[in-house]
Amino acid sequence: MAEKHWIAAALVAAALAAWGADAQRAQPAAASPRIYVFENGSISGLDPALFNFKREELEQVDFVDMAYLVVHPRGTVMFDAGAVPDGLFKGDGSPVVEGVVTATKPLLPQLAAVGYKPADITYLVLSHYHSDHTGNANAFAGATWIVQKAERDYMFADDPQGIIQPATYAALRNANTKILSNEDFDVFGDGTVVVMSTPGHTPGHQVLAVKLANRGTVVLAGDLYHYPEERTTGRTPTFEFAADQSKVSRARIEKFVEDNHAQLWIEHDIATHAALPKSPQYVD
Ligand SMILES: [Zn+2]
Repeated sequence: MAEKHWIAAALVAAALAAWGADAQRAQPAAASPRIYVFENGSISGLDPALFNFKREELEQVDFVDMAYLVVHPRGTVMFDAGAVPDGLFKGDGSPVVEGVVTATKPLLPQLAAVGYKPADITYLVLSHYHSDHTGNANAFAGATWIVQKAERDYMFADDPQGIIQPATYAALRNANTKILSNEDFDVFGDGTVVVMSTPGHTPGHQVLAVKLANRGTVVLAGDLYHYPEERTTGRTPTFEFAADQSKVSRARIEKFVEDNHAQLWIEHDIATHAALPKSPQYVD
């Protein structure tokens, strides 16, 4: 009798496991877009003066590192690619420390946990080329890369300078590429997922506006800002490619946010991300 119960329980467990595996393999298309928030780690030890702030003017000095997967009924968009390449993790659970970056979680296992391989990704959108956003860009070279011409030109210049690690995105040189010229792009043609051109931080910085059924419109802001205090003071970092352009881009996005009652998710902001469900949960 006891043995029968055990067998029945085992059969139920096996069925549930198979169902779970099927659910993951099937990658059911979302009825409307959803956003998965992936965590990569943090950046600490930054000098606030780099951002034209004094320590006491900032609520939080440290950053988080995030990446996002947008799942739309007609495809997927990876927005940013993590702070360091997954290959740098030793696999023993220890973090990867690269200068000011402490990466605690590889990206691709987080993607796999919600049922996606890099080959399942339809579009790659990088907010910009700074190395804390391009860590695993090479893994998505099979996707269509949506990039502003000015950004791509800089990335593949002979000797690009600054916060840049060309090896992390070298494979994108030959990727299917949708090149934009300081313009927006409606990714699926229905207005729900739109790349918006926001130059300034880098020559071709861009943000992603996503219209969600429940939460409303969300702007994945990349490094349009780093600290929420930049929004209220209008200050820009010392290392902007073109601070005058950043101000124009910010004004445009602030108007968009206001007109659409949108949420602005600053990618490095600790407070923004503390409030969000992290993958495998999602925002829809
Ligand atoms: Zn940046």
